[in-house]
Formats: sequence, C-alpha cells, structure tokens
Amino acid sequence: MKLFYLDKIKIMSNLKNNIVMAFQLPDLPYAYDALEPYIDKKTMELHHDKHHAGYTNKFNAAIEGTSLENMEVEEIFKNVSKHPVAVRNHGGGFYNHSLFWKVMSPNGGGEPKGELKDAIERDFGSFENFKDEFSKSAAGRFGSGWAWLCLGNDDKLSICSTPNQDNPLMDVAGCNAKKLLLGLDVWEHAYYLKYQNKRADYIQAFWNIVNWDEVASRFKG
Ligand code: MN
Repeated sequence: MKLFYLDKIKIMSNLKNNIVMAFQLPDLPYAYDALEPYIDKKTMELHHDKHHAGYTNKFNAAIEGTSLENMEVEEIFKNVSKHPVAVRNHGGGFYNHSLFWKVMSPNGGGEPKGELKDAIERDFGSFENFKDEFSKSAAGRFGSGWAWLCLGNDDKLSICSTPNQDNPLMDVAGCNAKKLLLGLDVWEHAYYLKYQNKRADYIQAFWNIVNWDEVASRFKG
C-alpha cells in the first residue's frame, strides 16, 4: 500500500482558475498547540502553513505538465536524480513533512511495544541505545536535514541522516530503506523560535511526542 494513496488528489481541478494540483497539503492531525510544551504553537503554524505549504506548491509546479504528475511520489524518488533539482527539494519537502506530522502526537512518548520493540532491541541492542544513536544522528547532521529510522530491504532497522529535504527513499540518499518509520526535522525552522541554537534540547523534547503507534503501524504495514 502506498503511503500517500489517500492523501493524493489525482485531479483537483478548479475550473474557474484552471488550477490542477497533483499533490495536496495534508491537514495537521492535531491542533497547532497540541504538541506544547515540546513544540510551540507559533513554530507549528509557520512550519505547516508556510514551509510545508510552500514545498507542496513548488512540488506541484515542478511536475506540472510532466509525466511525474501521474506517478506515486515514492516512485518519483527512486529515480529523483534524473529529474530537475526542484523535484528533489520540493518533493522531499512535501513528503517529509507529511510524514513528520503523523509520527508525532500529543499522546506520544514512552516506548514502542510488541514486534517493533523486539525489532529495535534486535537491531540496536536496546531502546535506550536506539534513542542515543538516533539523537546523535540528528545532532550530527551539519546544517539542515533529517534523521530517519528506516526499514531496509533486508528487513533490518537502521538509522540514516539526509541533508536538506532529501530522504532515504531517494536514489541519491545512499540509505538502505524500503520504508520510512520515523523522521525528525532538524532544520532550524523546526526549532529555532523556542530552542534557538540548542538543537540537542529540541531532540530530547521530541522523544516525549513520538507517536509509537504510528511508527509500529508503518513497520507492520
Ligand atoms: Mn521543516
């Protein structure tokens, strides 16, 4: 099943203005202030309504009138190096943020359960070790980018970090990923209003809002 099958509106046509949008900005699955005090309302407003909306609009503009309009976004990523850089940057921005909102929740935090917990312990030794490695990957990303928990083609879990709006499903990433389970945005726009230069504090706060139910359903699905 494709991740964004339901999010994608193949032809959303506004006849009056003749606007066709292949991909649509998803709503936040909670209120702007729902992740307080870990992520503040103003950051969420700007991040979703300005940054994510901007990536979505520019992605649609980049693929308008091309064969990519009718493709699933994951399929585009498999050969993204062959397309204009705007497809990579804005397609990544559209997709990464759509995932990011879902893997956080005001009822999140705690620890994974069941098969996901078992797989994390198998591949990282312990949940604490996993958290530590993921946090280091996020903190160590120079400049802007993301940290990811991936399910590989060998069905093992691994952590991968990508620059800018790249993601591990892209051919340019060099990650072993058939599926993305968890992602953390470490662009300054994700944390600077509340945390300023203290990226490590933002990363620590993130563990209080991780939606492990969503991560587990991605792992199983
Ligand atoms: Mn962002």
